[in-house]
Amino acid sequence: MPDRYAVVGHPISHSKSPAIHAAFAAQTGQDMIYEALLAPLDGFAATVGQFRAEGGRGMNITVPFKEEAWRLADRLTERASLARAVNTLSFNAGEVQGDNTDGAGLVRDLETLGCRLATARVLLLGAGGAARGVVAPLLESGVSRLFVANRTSSRAEQFLEDFADMLVYCMPGVLAAGGWQDAAAAPYDIVINATSASLTDETPPLPDGLYAPGSLAYDMVYGRGLTAFLKQARAQGATTLADGLGMLVEQAAEAFELWRGVRPDTAPVRDMLRAATPPLA
Ligand code: NAP
Repeated sequence: MPDRYAVVGHPISHSKSPAIHAAFAAQTGQDMIYEALLAPLDGFAATVGQFRAEGGRGMNITVPFKEEAWRLADRLTERASLARAVNTLSFNAGEVQGDNTDGAGLVRDLETLGCRLATARVLLLGAGGAARGVVAPLLESGVSRLFVANRTSSRAEQFLEDFADMLVYCMPGVLAAGGWQDAAAAPYDIVINATSASLTDETPPLPDGLYAPGSLAYDMVYGRGLTAFLKQARAQGATTLADGLGMLVEQAAEAFELWRGVRPDTAPVRDMLRAATPPLA
C-alpha cells in the first residue's frame, strides 16, 4: 500500500496541492498518494483523527484550520510555535508534529526571483496566519528592515506584542486610516501583500512613495492574474511583480522533504502550474 497524505481545508476543491505532490512523487519515485479532504467547519479534529486512524502519514492544512492545527499538535517546531499557525502535520510514533513551511517557501521563492534579502527593506501587509508564518524566516534571512502594517489595530497590536523581541516594526491601523504615519520608513525593496484582500479583488490603500527603484511587489495570493494590489504596485513604481505561486510550490517542497527525506526539484512543477494560470501582465 502506498503511504497516504492529504490536504485538508474548507473549501478545498480549488487546492493545487494534490497536483504538486503527485508531480513531486513521480519525479522522486516515492510510493505515495495525496488526497484533498473537505473538513466540516466544526469537524477539523475529527477529520484529522479519522485520517490518522486509517494510517495517514501526514497532512497539509489550509484555510481556515491553520490555527486549530497549531492547537491540535502534540509537538511544534520553533517556526510553527512562533507563527501560532501550522500548515504541515506529521504523524510519527503516536505523536502529531506541527510545522509551518510557509515562511521557508516564501524566502526560497524570493531568492529564486533574485532578491538580495540580506540588504532588503521589507514591508509586510497583513498580520494574519500567513504574515505570522513568514516573520521569523524573513528575519533569519537577514533583511535589514521589516515593517508590518495591518488594517485592524487590535490584531496589529497583538502581532507587535508576540514578535516584540524580533525587532518587527508595526503600524497599527494605518491601512484602515489610509494614512501613512512613518514616511521615514519608506521606500521599500520588497512589499509583500499577506492580506486576503486580493481574494475579493481589493487592495490595501497604500500611499505613493513606497517602492524603491528596482523593487518587488509580491502578492501571496496566486492564480488570479494581475490583482488590484499588483496593478496598484505597478502604477506606484514597483519594478517587478510576483504572485504566490512560487511560494505555494516551495512550501509544498519543504513539507515533502520533511515527510519523505528527499528534496524535489521545484522549477518544473512551478512551470507546469504557471502555464495553467492567468498571466501577470
Ligand atoms: P487570515 O489569517 O484570515 O488573515 C487575513 C489578513 O488580511 C488580516 O491581516 C486582515 O486584516 C487582512 N485583510 C483582509 N481583507 C483586507 C482588506 N480588504 N484590506 C486590508 N487588509 C485586509 O489569512 P491568512 O491565512 O493570513 O492568508 C492571507 C492570504 O495569504 C490569503 O489570501 C492566502 O490565500 C494567502 N496565502 C498564500 C500562501 C501561498 O503559499 N502562496 C500561503 C499562505 C497564505 P484584519 O486584521 O484587519 O482583518
